[in-house]
This record gives sequence, structure tokens and C-alpha cells, in this order.
Amino acid sequence: MQILKTSKELLEFRQNLEGGIGFVPTMGALHDGHKSLIKKAVLENENAIVSVFLNPKQFAPNEDLDTYPRKDEDDIKICEDLGVKAVFLPNADEFYSQDETTIKANPRLASMLEGATRPTHFDGVCTVLNKLFHLVRPNKAYFGKKDTQQIFVVKNMVEDFFLPIEIVPCEIVRAKDGLALSSRNAYLKDEEFCEAIKLSRSLNKAKNLIENGELKKENLFKEMMSCLEPVKIDYIALVNRNFEAIDVVEPGNSIILIAAYVGKTRLIDNLWI
Ligand code: AMP
Repeated sequence: MQILKTSKELLEFRQNLEGGIGFVPTMGALHDGHKSLIKKAVLENENAIVSVFLNPKQFAPNEDLDTYPRKDEDDIKICEDLGVKAVFLPNADEFYSQDETTIKANPRLASMLEGATRPTHFDGVCTVLNKLFHLVRPNKAYFGKKDTQQIFVVKNMVEDFFLPIEIVPCEIVRAKDGLALSSRNAYLKDEEFCEAIKLSRSLNKAKNLIENGELKKENLFKEMMSCLEPVKIDYIALVNRNFEAIDVVEPGNSIILIAAYVGKTRLIDNLWI
């Protein structure tokens, strides 16, 4: 496996690469959720490339860039063991120049839900992915449904810029108790885990209610909120698969999303129905 540290090294590697490419962009501290994406990329493509880059542009100044877990050595080993052809670990100073061109994410998608709390987040995501996609030129790029809104934002960017890349949504990997795996779970104190699992429990509650015929958002959210107590909810939302708010679940065309604070840690989860 090649370990590439600069954009120039990646460009050279890419120029000499033959065959289809599956790309998995990550911010590192790889866990089983990331691994599931990487395994799929390795399985479905002649070459899998992973990027490990803690992208400063997708963090607001008050967010957790400085405390975000970093495990480069472990991440390299994981990629190697999974059969990745190259891992790209750029340095932010080399990867970005000063005052460079940036991308603005779709305004509607980027201002709702995650974007309402994190207004610059998706611009940062699109800016880094635009660069990475041009360097890697993958056929397929793999994204977790854990960050469902991100999938919609990225699909939109790829379509708007006519990039010939298939965006592949991948299922959420969870711990045994249902908690969606996340690098940010590392921030949780032992006593906070029992609150954190309430996110997935509330989604399961909604799933059961929907299976029993309750489709109204109002009633579903009420039940979910009582399940989430005393967790501080940022939002609970119901959208269709065009990512537009709806009031009644349309089975096969709906997603329920939650963001909530457990102590100081902001967690997200969702359920595709
Ligand atoms: P991140 O390192 O947080 O930027 O995540 C990199 C990719 O891994 C994104 O596409 C995430 O949606 C995906 N991912 C993170 N956690 C999970 C999970 N628990 N299950 C599936 N995919 C995940």
C-alpha cells in the first residue's frame, strides 16, 4: 500500500493507476463504520483509495477541531489490512493555499438541519471533496448514511458539476446496544453512554410505531421526545428522499433525523423508512 502525504504524490500515483477506483474520504480515527465503507470499496473496485484528512474548513471556530481524535498510524494499518491501494494523509497547509477558491454547497440543503446549527459546515465539506475528487478521479465514492444530509449535499454537488462519480450510500454501523459508531463517541464519559443510546432507541420506537400504522410526524416526534428525555435535542426532523420536510411518513420515501447533545458531545443519527 502506498502512503501518500502530498497532493503531488497523489497526482503522480493516480496518473500511473489503471482500473476502476473506489474512494473513501474520511477524517481518520477509523472505526468499524469507516471499515464497512472501505471493505465495500475494496470489494467493488480494482483499486480502493482512502483519504485521512481532518479538514479544518468543515469545522467552525467554536467546534472540536483541536480535540478531534487522531490515529494516523492505526488508520494506516487498518487500510493496509483491508487491501487498500493507497492512503492519502495530506497536511492542511500543503493541501490548501491561502485565499483559494471555495465551493458553496446547495443553499437549501446547506441551511437546514445540520446546516442551521453549522452554517459553514457543508461549504467546507464540498470544498474538500471537490479537491479530493479532482485528485483521485474515482468511479465511485462511498459515504455513510450516518451523515445522511452530507450524502444529499455531495450528490447535489456531483450532479451540478457533472462529475462522473457514483455516490454510494452505505448502511450505518452500530454498537450492539444500537449506538451509531462515531469518532465523536470517544468524547462520551462512561455515564453518558446510557443517554447516547437513547438516540437510536427513539428511532427504533418510531420505527415500531410506523410499522403499526402511525405515520403522523407530530405523534411520532412526541413519542420520540419522551424516549429521549433528558437528552438535549437540537432537532428531530422528517424529510422525504428529496430531503424536503414532510408531515406524514411516506414508507419507502422518508427519513427521520435527530441531532442531540449528550453532555457537551453533539451526536446525530437517522432512520431511512
Ligand atoms: P468521518 O471520518 O466522520 O468524516 O466519516 C467518514 C465517512 O464514514 C462518512 O461517509 C461517514 O458517514 C462514514 N461513517 C461514519 N460513521 C459511520 C457509521 N457508524 N456507519 C457507517 N458509516 C459511517
